[in-house]
Formats: sequence, C-alpha cells, structure tokens
Amino acid sequence: MEFRSLKKQYKANKDTIDSAIFEVIANTNFISGTQVSKLEEKLADYVGVKHCITCANGTDALTLALMAWNIGIGDAVFVPNFTFFSSGEVVSFSKATPIFVDVDYDTCNIDVNKLEIAIESVLMAGKLKPKAIIAVDLFGQPADYKSIRAIADKYELFILEDGAQSFGGQIGNRKACSYGDISTTSFFPMKPFGCFGDGGAVFTDDECLANLIRSYCVHGKGSMKYDNIRIGVNSRLDTIQAAVLLAKFDTFVNFELPRVNELANYYSKSLKSRLGNLVSLPLIKEGYFSSWAQYTIKVEEPFKRDELQDYLRKSGIPTFVYYPKPMDSQQAFAYLQGMVPTQKLEISHELCDRVLSLPISPYMEKSEIDEIVDAIKMFYDEGVK
Ligand SMILES: *Cc1c(COP(=O)(O)O)cnc(C)c1O
Repeated sequence: MEFRSLKKQYKANKDTIDSAIFEVIANTNFISGTQVSKLEEKLADYVGVKHCITCANGTDALTLALMAWNIGIGDAVFVPNFTFFSSGEVVSFSKATPIFVDVDYDTCNIDVNKLEIAIESVLMAGKLKPKAIIAVDLFGQPADYKSIRAIADKYELFILEDGAQSFGGQIGNRKACSYGDISTTSFFPMKPFGCFGDGGAVFTDDECLANLIRSYCVHGKGSMKYDNIRIGVNSRLDTIQAAVLLAKFDTFVNFELPRVNELANYYSKSLKSRLGNLVSLPLIKEGYFSSWAQYTIKVEEPFKRDELQDYLRKSGIPTFVYYPKPMDSQQAFAYLQGMVPTQKLEISHELCDRVLSLPISPYMEKSEIDEIVDAIKMFYDEGVK
C-alpha cells in the first residue's frame, strides 16, 4: 500500500501528462514557457484572486512574500508552533523574529485567542515590532480567517496564508489561498495539487506586491532580465512542472477533490463506528472544506501512538507523524530562547505525541480503508485484552 498513491495517480492520467511533458521537451522552452503564464492565469482564476506568481517551491513563495513586505530585523512574525519547519524558517531567514503560537487541539490550526495574547506580550516587551501573521492551513483545512482578519486589523498586521497543504480547500464558497494579503502554496509531489518535482506559487490581489514579487523571483529584474533594480533571488517554476500541473488541473478539480473528501468521510464513519472514542478523528469545522493533504488521527491515552504506528507498519500499512517536533523544540530555533516572550505551548507538544497520519489519496479504494480500519481495530482489541 502506498501512503499517497502517486503511482496510481500517474497511471490514471499518463497520456495527458506524458504528451504535456514531451511538448515542452520538443519546444525546448524549459524556462518561462507559455505554459507558466497559462497556469498562473488558471490558478488565479480558480482561487479568485487577481495575481498568481509561480516560483520554485512553497518555501520560496513564503520568503518572497516577506521580501515584498520588507520584513526583516526587528520585526515579529507570528507562526503556529505546530506546522512544517518552513513556516517558521522563512521568518528567521528574513532576519525577522518568529513568535510561536499554540494551536487548537481539534483543528491543529493556530489558536486565535493565544495569537492575540502573543501579540500583546510582544507589544508589552517593546523590543520587536509586530508585522505579520503566518496562518497555516494545516492538513488541508483553512485556518479561522474571520477571527485572524479581525486580529490583523486591530493590530495592523499583514496576513500571510501558508496554503501549502490547502490548495483546493475552502470556507463557504471562498477558496483557500485567497485569505491572506499574500497567500502561498506548494506543488511538492505529496501536496494536494502536486507536480513532478519542486514548485510553488504566490497569490495576491495587490498589483504592487505582485509586481514586486515578479521582480524579486527573477534577480530583482526591472524592465527586463538584464536590468536589475533590486537584489532578488532566482526562483521560477520550470515549464515542465507548469505543463504537468496544467495537465492535472481538470482532474484535480473535478475528480480528485470530491473523491478525497468522499474517502475522508468514509474513513471517519468507519473509524467512529468501529472504535468509538478511542481515537480522535480529524475535525472539519462547519462550512469548511478540506483538500485533505493528510488524514490525521490522534491516539488518545492510555494508548501509545508509536505502538500503533509500529503495529500498522508490521501489517504493511505506511503512516507518518506530521509532526514529531514542535517549532519551539527545533534546535535551529534554540537561539530565540530568552530573547522573545514565550507562552505555554502545551497543545502543540501534546499533538506531536498523539498525531498519526494515515494513507489517503483520491486514488485509494474503500477496501484499502477497510483494511486500515481493521488493523487499527485489531491493535485496540489486543491492547484491551
Ligand atoms: C510543504 C510545506 C511548505 C513548503 O513547501 P515546499 O514546496 O516543500 O518548499 C511550507 N509550509 C507548509 C505548511 C508545508 O506543508
């Protein structure tokens, strides 16, 4: 069993993807081919924002956003303590200071009450200037943007939506990657809308920011590539990756998203009926729609997550722990200790001990989910004995 059936996905879409790739090879327009701008138009239209700028990966997309806002030394950026390393890494990389905020146990997204407490304590300490909130849509479910926007307005902060895991998700009728002043996503192969290598994109309604980012991602270009008006980076999406994404787009929207939601519902129904409250299921809030980057359960006491993971591995079922370490425990951020006001981050620490992501992909069969649920049930039956 694959954790995220990428081989099956390729097989199901092989003809369109192959011809799209070979067209790029035949035309040898490997960099900035027409497919790139075509993809950008399509994605901006889908997400419902004015501008989409593709780049080399989701981490660069976040960095480009911070560059566009000129965030750096002396600035505080608020980041959930439970997320992929990138979300905080980019802040330190930009020479600003990440302030880690605890998350909500049920959704695993940033806890908006604790966010406000964190902002207040930075203001009180008086050393750093609060500038932005990086809200992460963890596992595919958008964060609570209504509350986050109210807080951002109150303290005059930018919102950077890290939608690396939520492309295709939505709240009501509005799509993920449209909630930030700048939003970003990743096309890393395992993400909901993945390409065949690294890739990323930035979304914004603001034309000035869009122009700045278009410049920063090609060496700070001015009127053309050899007219350089600012220090930038080299971060472009390859034409081949754009062609792959274009070839996959219709299937993603019309088949993969509805199907992965059907499967996630099936998972939750089966787990609930067979296991009751022994495991906590992913909670999708009313009116929210997840793109299911991960289907993540929580193994509640007295059972041990690592023992369940071992048991499933022996039964041939691959699982992953996203994430085993919270941001504040990463050695790379040890330098922050004593420098910034900290809050208790107990929920994120608890999540790191309890979460387990089970195989999910639009190309799974329900019978595979039955097999996984059977194995989990057997683990608990043996444990109870
Ligand atoms: C994957 C991911 C990123 C980084 O994307 P890359 O394309 O791998 O650089 C950033 N944030 C989150 C939440 C992610 O899951």
